[in-house]
Amino acid sequence: MKLRFSFILSTVLIINSACSSAQDAGISNKGTESKKPKNIILLIGDGMGLSQVSASLFYNDKPSNFEQFQTIGLIKTSASGDLITDSAASATAYATGIKTYNGAIAVNQDTIPVETIVERISKKGVATGVISTSSIVHATPASFFAHMKSRRMYDEIAAFLPVSEIDFFAGGGLGFFNERKDGRDLLQELRQNGFEVVTTRLPGTVSEKKQAILLAKDAMPTMEEGRGNFLPDATKLALESLSKNENGFFLMVEGSQIDWGGHANDANYVITEQLDFDATIGVALDFAKLNGETLVIVTADHETGGFTLAADNGNYNKIGPVFSTQGHSATMVPVFANGPGASLFGGVYENTAVYHKMMKLFSK
Ligand code: MG
Ligand code: ZN
Repeated sequence: MKLRFSFILSTVLIINSACSSAQDAGISNKGTESKKPKNIILLIGDGMGLSQVSASLFYNDKPSNFEQFQTIGLIKTSASGDLITDSAASATAYATGIKTYNGAIAVNQDTIPVETIVERISKKGVATGVISTSSIVHATPASFFAHMKSRRMYDEIAAFLPVSEIDFFAGGGLGFFNERKDGRDLLQELRQNGFEVVTTRLPGTVSEKKQAILLAKDAMPTMEEGRGNFLPDATKLALESLSKNENGFFLMVEGSQIDWGGHANDANYVITEQLDFDATIGVALDFAKLNGETLVIVTADHETGGFTLAADNGNYNKIGPVFSTQGHSATMVPVFANGPGASLFGGVYENTAVYHKMMKLFSK
């Protein structure tokens, strides 16, 4: 395990050439786009297709935050070798701008590490954070700070965090830090690398230090189990912390368990997680409105469950949600954007283009 870890670290990172990125990002036909954001918040609803988004409207007792967006696009999600992507390949597309195989964590088809948006913008002094309702070493967040040939190598993925460029993280996964096969104490390593480590409850205030918040051994509880306001509150805390950085920030927030409700073909699970994600979008939009220099992007990695808001047994006045698969589907996922640079995100494009659009906007 140690050998593999050092091999990965010593491997040269592949950097995407800038020449193809402008075209991918659709910059050329958007000449009117001038204002660039200082900060970007990327919210990923894992497994969130258009029916899941629609559930945010039908099952909400208040207006959905999705209705605040003016710019909307559609994303093609396929992985390099499969028409239907998993969360690892899709998050790698968002984090690095390349298509790769299912299961890959920020590595290319030859398992060579590819530099992530977090690694690239940190060099310019941009602060970065990741938040998740799964374990923080799960595929979606992992692709923003680790490089691994397999998403299942959780212990190895966790070992990237103490030495990563991440300044704030919150989620589950404590067991991969303090109950490890190799006996390392990653909580101690986090402290040695300038983190305040919190494992009991979400802190009420930001720290002068970087913050590592690990509130469950593995995944966070579901909304139905009483997770409460963890996701919106952690997002609030991260925004308060990261916005102190004068060079701006990048924050990825994942509503992880919309996907798990889809896999379980459990409509209540999907809907309760979706509503929590919707509330979290509200936190991001409220911050962006006051801040004025923040782009909010909301999208998904893929759709899960083939979820449909069907008429209930032919009753056109009642929705009876149904599923068509226990896995993912190839259906395009929606993308919503608000703030400086938002107009770049209209259209129909590959998931990799999201990375190129974000990098274009972060280039000064
Ligand atoms: Mg995920
Ligand atoms: Zn899934």
